[in-house]
Amino acid sequence: MTTAGGHGREMRSDASECSLPGLLIQVGESIHATLMVDAQGRIGRMDGALADASGWGSEVPPEGRALEEVLRRLPWLVKALRTALAGSETVCEGGERDQRTRALVLPVFANDGCCLGACACVRASEPVSVESAHHEALERALSQTQKQYEDLINTIDGIVWEADVSFRFTFVNEQSERLLGYPPLQWRQEPDFWKNHIHPEDRDWAHAYFMKATREHRPYEFEYRMLASDGRVVWLRTIVTVLVEEGRPLMLRGIMVDVTEQRRAREKLEQTASLLRATFESIVDGVLVVDVNRRITTCNKRFQQLWKLPDDVLLGGLSAEKSLVAAAPLVKDPERFAARIREVYATPDLEDVDTVELRDGRTLERSTRPQRMGNAIIGRIWSYRDVTAERLAKAAQERLLAAEQRAREQLEESFAVLDTFLNNSPIGMGFLDRDLRIIRINDALAALHGKTRREEIGRMFREQIPRVADTMEPLIRQVLETGEPIIGYDTALEVPATPGQLRYWRVSYYPVRMPSGRIVGVGAVVVELTAERRAQQERERLLREAHEAIRIRDDFLSVASHELRTPLTPLKLHLQMLKQRSASGQPIPPHSAEKALTQVQRLTGLISDMLDSSRIEAGRLELERESLSLLALVRDVLADFRLICPHHPLEYEECAEELVVLGDRGRLRQVLTNLLENALKYSPMKGPIRVTLSRKGTEALVSVSDTGIGIPVDQQAHLFERFFRARNAPVSGFGGLGLGLYICRHIIERHGGRIWAESQGDQGSTFRFTLPVAAPALPSSPTDPGGRSAPGR
Ligand code: ADP
Repeated sequence: MTTAGGHGREMRSDASECSLPGLLIQVGESIHATLMVDAQGRIGRMDGALADASGWGSEVPPEGRALEEVLRRLPWLVKALRTALAGSETVCEGGERDQRTRALVLPVFANDGCCLGACACVRASEPVSVESAHHEALERALSQTQKQYEDLINTIDGIVWEADVSFRFTFVNEQSERLLGYPPLQWRQEPDFWKNHIHPEDRDWAHAYFMKATREHRPYEFEYRMLASDGRVVWLRTIVTVLVEEGRPLMLRGIMVDVTEQRRAREKLEQTASLLRATFESIVDGVLVVDVNRRITTCNKRFQQLWKLPDDVLLGGLSAEKSLVAAAPLVKDPERFAARIREVYATPDLEDVDTVELRDGRTLERSTRPQRMGNAIIGRIWSYRDVTAERLAKAAQERLLAAEQRAREQLEESFAVLDTFLNNSPIGMGFLDRDLRIIRINDALAALHGKTRREEIGRMFREQIPRVADTMEPLIRQVLETGEPIIGYDTALEVPATPGQLRYWRVSYYPVRMPSGRIVGVGAVVVELTAERRAQQERERLLREAHEAIRIRDDFLSVASHELRTPLTPLKLHLQMLKQRSASGQPIPPHSAEKALTQVQRLTGLISDMLDSSRIEAGRLELERESLSLLALVRDVLADFRLICPHHPLEYEECAEELVVLGDRGRLRQVLTNLLENALKYSPMKGPIRVTLSRKGTEALVSVSDTGIGIPVDQQAHLFERFFRARNAPVSGFGGLGLGLYICRHIIERHGGRIWAESQGDQGSTFRFTLPVAAPALPSSPTDPGGRSAPGR
């Protein structure tokens, strides 16, 4: 068992086995009264004197009762006992002035360090003499100083301690518990407390260090880690003083300061510094730091490499000027280089970027800025970066960009030229990609589709012109598949621009290849052939007509020569016969002269027709117009006709009313005679001829029908052309010059009428003509004195 002494730092008792009464006897004779309490603060023993003093009396034993209950009158003693139970000894005093009582109150510990309880030794204070009053004052002062000292020790921010040479603590201040969580008592009581609570990693070296230093009697300090009661790791800086007596270490005294925060801060700082150093060394820039005296503070390896500087140039706080001298030969323009550096140094807060050209072709980009600490400039940082590759790459890139720009411009120019040609071309042109999407198209082709270029580009061919696509898509796909062009595919198609109109096209498709040979699409060229086709058709028609004209001319020549010669032979025979008879004095038969005259008449008619034709062509055919009766004219012509062909059946259907026209009597007679002669001439079977005269509105209509050879349908349109003779017209016999109908048409049209023919081809023909009827009507007359006799001309 152990009690803690009031003035000694620690007092060990050998009476560990003593009973509590035994201990109390040891306390000494000065004890006036004694009191013991257990660890729970219950009275264990209280002598009678104290019982009296406390006013408890003797009737009820105080043992087992709470000390506050028993010592109600002695609160100062209660307080001291509670302090002792908390582990601290006290000397206290209380009571009335003339009955002052003092007590020494001690905690009582078991060997294992547990608090067993507390005991108090109480005695009456000596009466106060002048001397003792002085003594008391001194004691109070001492106690107060000691208190201050203890307070001071306890408020120091560190563990103040004393220990024996084996580092067993004999004293620790209250901070020990605050810092590490172990109560001071544990520090003192627990053998090897210090060593046991050192961090395992530090334990061996720290202990060895302590042993060595202690042996060497020298003060020392060291840092190591201890484990707090809550598991925290606490860095302690321990400063130790070795007290030596007679050459041997007597005890140790020291202080342990918590440096965990500093330690962490330092570690962090070291980490940061290491990081900065690593960064400094690994950056691509060569960096030189110079202090305000222009001495080199630091530089990285890259700086050395860039400037090819040997280590010794930079060692030992070398002057920046010297490194400048070392660097100068490398620079293309050393003077400018040095001058620029001087300029920068002359303006301490200047920040600048420029470039330095080196003799070996390298270009360094240099930036510099002041090194600041707070607001103060403490040096200058120079940073050099090798931008040679970058510059070369940039120059190359600029060249490439320029080339690309030029190429693009050329391409655009080419496209502009191409577009100009394309869009001004009358030929439709376009380009389709492999999906048959329209990539380029000119105005001409877009217009055929009924669209604008803008509407076409980017659209699918089929979507734009579905009907054309049905025909053309297979051809385009064929070109894509075979790589062979299709040139000059002629087709007739309706296009959206002109619906319902069949137009002719010549389309060509060409594969469009990349330099690699890959086919990227199809170029289309569309040429319209419609005009060409029409021109060709026109040419063919003209050719046909020319052939026809030649044929007609040849026919005419043949017919004309035949027609002209035909009357000449009989005329010649008649004239020879007349000559012989006249020479021989024989009588001349009258019919011979008549026959000769008939032939002369026939010749005259042919020649008249030829003359009329010439006049018409020359615009010199003159008409002598008069009001005349068409009825009388027709009757007159028919009468002549019957005289000449008395046996040919002739029917006449006359108009019931008079029809007066304003016309040339002779020419109208010529028309009617010609139609009747033709009806007769082209009716070899002597079929009937039918003539009708009627009125249709304001016009008189005359028709002459026969049942002869008819007129081929395809030839009817040409009947009234000059020299035209239908292909079925006989060359001999009833030949003609193909001029009669031509002259008839001219005469009728000059009279304001129309003339036409109707024929089923081979079942006869009907020729009709109209004339405007003139009013008023004239009285009909049986004969027309101005008319020529029919059928001659
Ligand atoms: P031509 O002297 O040849 O008869 P025309 O001008 O009178 O000349 O007639 C032109 C052509 O018209 C004739 O050659 C003939 O082929 C055709 N033609 C005229 N009248 C008739 C008719 N009544 N029947 C059939 N063909 C006719």
